[in-house]
Amino acid sequence: MDWAVPLSDLVVEDDDLRAVTDTYRSGWLSMGPRTRQFEDLFARFVGTRHAVAVTNGTAALHLMCLAVGLTTGDEVIVPSLTFVATANAVRYTGATPVFADIAGPARPWLSAASCEQVITSRTKAVLYVAYGGHAGEIGALRDLCARRGLILLEDAAHAAGSWWHGRHLGTFGTAGAFSMFANKNLAVGEGGVVVTADPDIADRVRLLRSHGMTTLAWDRHQGHAHTYDVVALGYNYRIDEPRATLAACRLRRLAAENQRRARLDARYREALGDLDVVIPGHPVDAVPGQPVDDGCARSHHLFAVVLPADVDRDAFRGHLSERGVQTSVHYPPVHRSTVHAAPPGSPRRELPLTDGYAARTVTLPMFAHMRDDQQEQVVSATGKALALARTSSRRRDTSDETAAR
Ligand SMILES: *Cc1c(COP(=O)(O)O)cnc(C)c1O
Repeated sequence: MDWAVPLSDLVVEDDDLRAVTDTYRSGWLSMGPRTRQFEDLFARFVGTRHAVAVTNGTAALHLMCLAVGLTTGDEVIVPSLTFVATANAVRYTGATPVFADIAGPARPWLSAASCEQVITSRTKAVLYVAYGGHAGEIGALRDLCARRGLILLEDAAHAAGSWWHGRHLGTFGTAGAFSMFANKNLAVGEGGVVVTADPDIADRVRLLRSHGMTTLAWDRHQGHAHTYDVVALGYNYRIDEPRATLAACRLRRLAAENQRRARLDARYREALGDLDVVIPGHPVDAVPGQPVDDGCARSHHLFAVVLPADVDRDAFRGHLSERGVQTSVHYPPVHRSTVHAAPPGSPRRELPLTDGYAARTVTLPMFAHMRDDQQEQVVSATGKALALARTSSRRRDTSDETAAR
């Protein structure tokens, strides 16, 4: 389907194409010097010591979890309102994801109070997900982890360009993982980055990224090494040079693109403010009601609305679709998925706020190059769809009653 306004869209500039073409012409395509250049740029961008680029965001999460020592028997507290890869990465290590609830319908991020309730003697870490790029309760989670002796990790897949009080998301805990999937703010197709200030963790991630081998193909090519040992059970999670080149080019435009997203976010809030929907978060600051401080910015990765209870979400999305507007749902809760549901007989943890949010949220189009007329189309279609979906849900309720009688 050709959408008048797609959910997200990406422009690859001529400069990007030239740089990638030069990389192909260089004759070195697997991981090498351009990857190292991108890693240096990314580490500087987020303000930490080490960045290690890998083949995708899920690999970044996996290696981050391994590098901090997560293993069988450990419990890791995660939100259920996230992409399934967050919980999968924990499971790959043998550890168990333990789901905690969000803070509220307008605050769809991991609640520190809910995390505290599920801490046990096996809890080893908290894995925060910056939903939509929101810093959420990252400050409270950092304090909680310090107080209870837990490792703080971050899934910063949505958060490229999100700062909270002068610190970039992904750098609040021991390590953070970013994604460069095609629909993320820093998009190269497939790609990921682990960031950390700890040199031992960075070394461990580098080792595991390339089969646990002590030297790299690039070093052998350069004549720096002739053989290697294999010292850990590693993976092939390497990125290649064309993608690292594209990532470096796109990183230089990220701040400007995120500013454009911020303006779109502000216009959405103004234009949809009179409608009967909840808009999560606050234009700039992470915590509603608190003053907007310097040093806070957001990636504006998603723009979500929460529908009132009497609106039929499928009908609402159908009406938007008929008007050429693509929507999505972030996310079907992970704790309800077959693979992550509590095994039969074990106590099921209730996550009422996550369930409520996930049942009523709709993600509207958001991308840096959205034109003003496209955004106006979304706004006007949203108003119409809301009215129509409400009427049609009432009508259906009535006919259901008629059928029951
Ligand atoms: C996209 C995403 C991932 C996975 O990243 P990939 O690069 O697609 O592997 C993990 N967590 C969240 C929250 C994401 O949005």
